[in-house]
Amino acid sequence: MECINHKDRDAVAVCTICGAPVCAECACTLNDAKVCPNCLQTACIQNVKNLDVDSTIQFGYSLLATLFYIAGIIVMSVLGKNSTGYYFLGLLLMGLPNLISFFNRRVGFMATIRGWIFMGIIQVLLGIIFTPIIVVRSLIYGIRFGKQKKYWENLLNQVTNYINSLH
Ligand SMILES: [Zn+2]
Ligand SMILES: [Zn+2]
Repeated sequence: MECINHKDRDAVAVCTICGAPVCAECACTLNDAKVCPNCLQTACIQNVKNLDVDSTIQFGYSLLATLFYIAGIIVMSVLGKNSTGYYFLGLLLMGLPNLISFFNRRVGFMATIRGWIFMGIIQVLLGIIFTPIIVVRSLIYGIRFGKQKKYWENLLNQVTNYINSLH
């Protein structure tokens, strides 16, 4: 069997995605499996796209939670002097981003509606502690996804250059 890109070379592997035979030079590795350059390129494009969305969500969430937290502090310190109701409102603002993460990440954790409400209230009330943790965690994830995106972008450049050099 000859390589799909080099008619004068014998294939040493078959692409695990599309089945194309490839020579030693054309054989690429994707998650420990041998693939052809075209399938690697497609996978790279998809990964870059996914990681771009992932990192944007994490950074966006981190920013949103920070803004809610600051708003909560302002409401508490400025309006809290007038009425204790504003303390609760400030606490609520600080905890709301935390509630979003609760619904995002722990679906299925609490089986009953009452359990959901109970946990939700606790999440909001303890937002003053948990929200900063979530902000930091989202930042770390955002940076991690960004680094992974860079890796796939580099690989995409390499494989694209290789494909272009074939023609
Ligand atoms: Zn392939
Ligand atoms: Zn080849």
